[in-house]
Amino acid sequence: MLRFYNTPSHLYEPFAPIASGTVSIYTCGPTVYDYLHVGNWSSYVRWDILVRTLTLSGYNVNRVMNITDVGHLVSDEDEGQDKMVKSALKHKKTAWELARYYSDDFMAGMDKLHLVQPQHITKATDFIDEQLTFIRELKDKGVTYQIDDGIYFDTAKFPNYASFARLDLEHLKDGARITPNPQKRNPSDFALWKFSPKHEKRDMEWDTPKDIVEGTSKKGFPGWHLECSAMILKKLGKTIDIHTGGIDHIPVHHTNEIAQSETLTGKPLAHYWLHNNFLLVNGTKVSKSLGNSILLSEIEKKNIDLMAFKLFVLQSHYRTESNFTWENLVAANNRLNNWASIIERKWQVNTTSTSDSKVSVALASALDALQQDLDTPRALIHVEEALRYIETRGLEASPEDIMEVEAFIQNGLGLYLHSSDITAGQKLTIKERADARKKSDWKTSDHLRDILKNQKILLKDTDEGQIWSRLQ
Ligand code: AMP
Ligand code: ZN
Repeated sequence: MLRFYNTPSHLYEPFAPIASGTVSIYTCGPTVYDYLHVGNWSSYVRWDILVRTLTLSGYNVNRVMNITDVGHLVSDEDEGQDKMVKSALKHKKTAWELARYYSDDFMAGMDKLHLVQPQHITKATDFIDEQLTFIRELKDKGVTYQIDDGIYFDTAKFPNYASFARLDLEHLKDGARITPNPQKRNPSDFALWKFSPKHEKRDMEWDTPKDIVEGTSKKGFPGWHLECSAMILKKLGKTIDIHTGGIDHIPVHHTNEIAQSETLTGKPLAHYWLHNNFLLVNGTKVSKSLGNSILLSEIEKKNIDLMAFKLFVLQSHYRTESNFTWENLVAANNRLNNWASIIERKWQVNTTSTSDSKVSVALASALDALQQDLDTPRALIHVEEALRYIETRGLEASPEDIMEVEAFIQNGLGLYLHSSDITAGQKLTIKERADARKKSDWKTSDHLRDILKNQKILLKDTDEGQIWSRLQ
């Protein structure tokens, strides 16, 4: 049975979807003003495991992920420049060019990491009409107001505003969270639509419809929180099963999504809210100014398999803080290579060997670990248990067992091992070496072993025969 830790209740809750057999999921996607760093990617690796766990548990998944290409301001609270505009100025590109470039890079990264593609990937700029309709309906409900720089949601009109994140609104009033905009009615009020700054031509701006704006029509752009609410409503409906994001989204972004969506529909936005904790780099927060925002390309440049990064992420639970260091990544890479060397036995073992039930039991425990709030560290232990059972059987291990473990590593954990059979020539060399050893011709045997070693094939002599593995 699946259980998830639900952020608003702070409890583990058994999972039951709205429609039996299908699970609707919304994942807050990246703001495409720059390359994603390892912290961002760790978040998407976590939600990849969620999708895989649900799929292995027999559910169909219908998942939407947005791409924020407009409206996410430097502060999450509607202050400062639009991140896209700031970056476009720096790179001497238009915001549209920048969005295209970094979205493409994000999609390429998803492929490289073998992250399951959401059924819908939706860009904020493709949902402008839906966002304007959303504002119009909120306006009709009397929960919006207009000030000089935009149209805002009046959070005092949503009585449960503080409950999701257990916010201390009195404290907020002191300005602890937000640099107060003196025109806002409440410090927690947030922009649904920002007006383009006077005398500034933005690359991304739209007419504010006359029935929404008071006074003369102005150009504007949507506030960051609105896109998610509008996309969820359009693509998935009023209430979804699972909403995911990083813990940084709890107090502002998700709180605001809930306020606007639930005011509009009168229904809960999501039944389960899952939030990933943060990845640190060398024990500190990932930040451009500290120069520690490591990219996937840097891992690739060091010739480290990106699957090792994924394994590194899975070694910690999604709700605990994790720490990226190059040493940790190299250790994960070694662990992965070790797994691959056992899986490579599928081409070597006795094809008539029968399965060992202990392997299936270990894999069932691994799936159970994932089903218990995505306990990936425990799942890895059970996978390793299964691999050990295979390893100890040497060439008597069953090929079905090996393939079963490989399938779980791939489908459950999303780890694609690079393993391939050796060539016919290399197989012949191994056979010749076996013949030499039978004749106690150690010189030839050593020579043939060295030939293979030069080809990065390592031989291990066991009672049943030689076992090869690839040297990394
Ligand atoms: P952003 O593009 O800033 O909206 O971030 C994309 C996703 O990455 C969000 O879900 C964030 O919560 C998440 N995120 C940002 N930094 C980290 C980090 N250091 N560790 C884990 N997740 C992060
Ligand atoms: Zn969102």
